[in-house]
Order: sequence, then C-alpha cells, then structure tokens
Amino acid sequence: MTEAKIENIEDLSGVGPAVAEKFREAGLTTLEEIGTQSPGQLSDATGIGVDSCAKFIKEAGKNANIGSFLTGTELMEKRATVGKLTTGAEAFNELLGGGVETQSITEFYGQYGSGKTQFVLQLAVNATLPIEQGGLGGEVAIIDTENTFRPERIISMAKALELDPDEVLSKIHVGRAYNSHQQMLMVEKVSELAKELPIKMLAVDSLTGAFRAEYIGRGTLADRQGKINAHMTELARFGDLNNAAVVVTNQVSSNPAAFFGDPTKPIGGNIVGHTSKFRIYLRRGKAGKRVCRLVDSPHLPENEALVSITEDGIRDG
Ligand code: ADP
Ligand code: MG
Repeated sequence: MTEAKIENIEDLSGVGPAVAEKFREAGLTTLEEIGTQSPGQLSDATGIGVDSCAKFIKEAGKNANIGSFLTGTELMEKRATVGKLTTGAEAFNELLGGGVETQSITEFYGQYGSGKTQFVLQLAVNATLPIEQGGLGGEVAIIDTENTFRPERIISMAKALELDPDEVLSKIHVGRAYNSHQQMLMVEKVSELAKELPIKMLAVDSLTGAFRAEYIGRGTLADRQGKINAHMTELARFGDLNNAAVVVTNQVSSNPAAFFGDPTKPIGGNIVGHTSKFRIYLRRGKAGKRVCRLVDSPHLPENEALVSITEDGIRDG
C-alpha cells in the first residue's frame, strides 16, 4: 500500500497551527523548503527541537521527492528545465554551452576593474528579456556588498536592447549588505521575495569581499570557509528551488610574494570552487577588451572568449 502524498506543511504529522506558524515565521512555506534543510539549520531557524526537526524533514522530503534516487531519464528531464541566460556576447554564450545556466552557481572572478560587476548588471538586464530572446522572462535580485550597483548602467543597457528602462529597473531588486552576516540573511529575504515575484536570477556582488575584510588572520580561516560554504549552499538551494541563475563575483588574491604558485587565485579556494558549477576568470586583454576563460565545468571544455565592455553593455569582442 502506498501512502497518499501530502502537499502542505500543515499535513505533516505532529505539525499543528503553532508549529506551522513557526515555519512560516522562518520563511518556510513549502514541503520542499523544509525537506531540503538539515535538522540543525531548521532547529536554529524555528526554535523547534532537533529531533522533531529531523522527523519533519524526513516526512517533508519524502513527500517532495527529496533525497531519493533518480534515474538518468528523470535527471535528463530535470536538465531540460534548465534555462540559459544570454551574456550579450555570442562567442561567450557558446563557450558556456548556450548561456549562464539556471539551477547552477556561476562565478566570475578577476582583479578589480576586470568587469565582474558589468557582467552582473548585463545579466540582470538580460534576465528580464523573454525566453525567446535569451532571457529568463523574470525578475532579478542583487545582493550588493560593495555599493557598486549603478541604475544608470541598467538604463544604458536596457535602452541598447530597446527595452523600457523604467520597466527593467522595476524588475531589479537590490539589497545592500554592509557585512557578511547581512549578506547571508539576505538570501532568506530573497527567498521570501521569490514567493511573490518570479525571481529568475540572484546575484551576489561580491561573494567574498565582506568575508575577506572581516576574517583576518590565519586562525579565522576555517571559520570563514565554513561560513562561505553555508552561504553557497543556501545560494545553490535558491537556484534549484526557483529554477534561477545564481551569479556570484569573487576577487583574486594578489600575492606578489607568491613567487611560485598562481598570483591570480580566487578567494575562498576549494569551497567556492566546488560549489560554483561554472567558474569564469576575467582579465583585461588588448584594446580594453576582456578575456573570459571558462576554468572548470562538469561538461564543457576549458576555453576562452573575447568580449568588449561598451556603453551599451557586454558585446562580442
Ligand atoms: P569589477 O567589478 O571587476 O571590479 P567593473 O565591472 O566595475 O569591474 O568594471 C569596470 C570597467 O568596466 C571599467 O574600467 C570600464 O572599462 C568598464 N565600463 C564601465 N562602465 C562603462 C561604460 N559606461 N562604457 C564602457 N565601459 C565601461
Ligand atoms: Mg565590482
């Protein structure tokens, strides 16, 4: 006998109105959202005991088909729902296998002035385009930790695509984070926003800047990496649950004393690298152009594309 599937949080065994309210207060309104938590996380967010949380997660997960094995066929079907967001440059889109993917984290890393923020702004404008035009037909959330969001740039880029700049601006939601703690909390806020609005892209510009400034010295490294890891797990989950593109930017550590070794290593090392499905290294090329190098991807060859940053936005180089 197969049990009838439940669809609502209130249907979980042991969940009465009071517990349901605790979930809601923590911004958790679907079985999927509960089923993808860890017991500790859920307990912290709701104040409910860890053991009860583990039970709720198990039942919610079972009913939302989380944590079960999927066949290759089913995974192919899931892959088919992945959206591809145009970067504005054809050669670069091709390098990415069609564009920036939804349900994945794409990381742009490079030195100051390499164009990371310009990519975020261009992708934000493009995400509002209809799917037929390479967009995601949705709205965008940007967590801005460096105060580099410029509405003027959005207006220029929107005009260049013959879009109504006011309409585009109204679809881009910018949250300024002043420290890493706020930055992490903002992912929860965006999840709430995504219940009312079709948020199809979430960007964090910059992912690592605040962490880097706050966790100084050797002894703090493990702590910092742990926090970044938790943050990225939340970002990946957002992308998965909302079929959204997640775009993060990352600085490189310039260590001139590193005589050997790579002077252009992205911050956050393996933690960021393993969670980002696509890593793009940006550097200045000749005549103001930018070289975009796809560094490692599960299914695409490592390669480079040339782009220009113009008043109109990102274009083929
Ligand atoms: P990062 O975020 O990597 O520090 P940015 O994305 O802010 O770098 O890139 C800044 C660069 O983008 C500028 O140095 C300039 O080359 C280019 N850029 C910014 N705005 C414009 C514009 N309106 N027209 C042409 N190029 C621009
Ligand atoms: Mg920037």
